[in-house]
Amino acid sequence: MIGDKLAQYTGKLDHVKTGLTFDDVLLVPKYSEVSSRRDVSTTSKLTEKIGISVPIVSANMDTVTEADMAITVAREGGIGIIHRFMALEDQVAQVSRVKRTESIVIENPYTLPDSSAIGDVRDLMNEKNVGGILIISKDGKLKGIVTSRDLRFVEDQHSAVAQIMTKRSDLIVASKKTTPEEAKEIMQRNKIEKLPLVDAGDRLVGLITAKDILKRKQFPKACKDSKGRLRVGAAIGVKGDYLERAEKLHKVEVDALVLDIAHGHSLHAIEAIKKIKKTLGREIQLIAGNVATRQGAIDLIKAGADSIKVGVGSGSICITRIVTGSGVPQVTAISECSLATRDSGVTLIADGGIRNSGDITKALVAGADSVMIGSLLAGTDESPGEIVYRGNFRYKVTRGMASMSARKQQLAKERGTRHEINHMRSSDEQEPDLIDYVPEGVEAIVPYKGGAVNVIRQLVGGLKSGMSYCGAKTLTELRTNGEFMRITDVGLKESLPHDVEEL
Ligand code: 5GP
Repeated sequence: MIGDKLAQYTGKLDHVKTGLTFDDVLLVPKYSEVSSRRDVSTTSKLTEKIGISVPIVSANMDTVTEADMAITVAREGGIGIIHRFMALEDQVAQVSRVKRTESIVIENPYTLPDSSAIGDVRDLMNEKNVGGILIISKDGKLKGIVTSRDLRFVEDQHSAVAQIMTKRSDLIVASKKTTPEEAKEIMQRNKIEKLPLVDAGDRLVGLITAKDILKRKQFPKACKDSKGRLRVGAAIGVKGDYLERAEKLHKVEVDALVLDIAHGHSLHAIEAIKKIKKTLGREIQLIAGNVATRQGAIDLIKAGADSIKVGVGSGSICITRIVTGSGVPQVTAISECSLATRDSGVTLIADGGIRNSGDITKALVAGADSVMIGSLLAGTDESPGEIVYRGNFRYKVTRGMASMSARKQQLAKERGTRHEINHMRSSDEQEPDLIDYVPEGVEAIVPYKGGAVNVIRQLVGGLKSGMSYCGAKTLTELRTNGEFMRITDVGLKESLPHDVEEL
């Protein structure tokens, strides 16, 4: 009897699945008609409504993405996600900075009243980092313009701005209907750099700058919205002020919100998705995660997510798998989740663990529409933080957002005691809020790499070559043609430089 009953049981290890990650597989080379990388298109989608010309998303980490990184990544054709570990108003300012960097028409150019002093103009120029301020009357009529050239040799800060500005009577202006081509022609003919736009009542309604027009030529693949502004995303959590954050970010026209929690297959995440969609409308582009299973992706899609972020424990600075015992090797996680996103109108972002362009190609073959990159971009000029020296080598610091170091700083910010907590040593951690904190990330250094553009172009170049090896001219063809082969540890050893001493 007992024996019969026991015979029905299955052990936890029976039918156990195998999880594979990037180094476990290679892509089988296929017949290719690609003769040059120029033949290959890396166009993809962040969400169904947001096109990207390179499938790269910079991670919402405080050592990776603030406005500088987001601007560079968007100019290269990807998109950056501004992290959330700052005051709400700072995050809003970061998003606004990206959105103002370029546009066809600047709809709300910086202005000052004609009663202002020269010093006011100089201050605003410095604060906003712009080269010109428009001067208007109380009723919004254009009165003149001051550019940095007008200020160059002026010492007196108290005199009225009218003394140095180019007056309305000498200004070339145009109407709001002016096309970029017409604006270019007007600026060229009159040798001017800024073209204010006015309505029939001579009220200021916009500004076109030569710099914006040139930028369009310089970065033809840039990821832009319908107004010609660079696209940018921003992260929010699922607790505290997250709904207010979402609303304020939406107000400054953030392109996508990223609901950022480590274990996204949770009631918290599902409720937050529903709440955000209900409050801000279905149109708001919402990326949710992180998950690592097909069911996780299905549940977030059902809740209303527009894109699913996949990766539990895959990040370079992540110790979740060690601390909790949970996670799914990343190629398996992507492949599983893609069974839920495929044909659903919802995209998939493979987040974490990308170390080189080959990993990107593998992630896309497994079913991702784009990859999120953290530490690979952390050592660049555009990543927040200073360069540190070790011997003759230069590095930058990166850290998990769930590391002890990040937690200390978040706590210090909440209490306004940055100095005190930042200087606590890990052995001193008697702090009640830290004693129970279990980090799932580490702090580390990565080699300094110069500008992020170089890193991105190397990654995209490698991806294009990888597409050629798979006989693919588009990412859709890559997904169809790409075929994985599982390799052994010996195979991996053969993949790396071997039996030579690298210089
Ligand atoms: P990377 O590109 O550096 O390999 O991975 C970046 C990703 O790691 C991020 O986008 C995020 O999903 C994840 N991540 C960032 N900080 C932490 C952390 O402290 N713990 C864990 N588990 N993951 C993290």
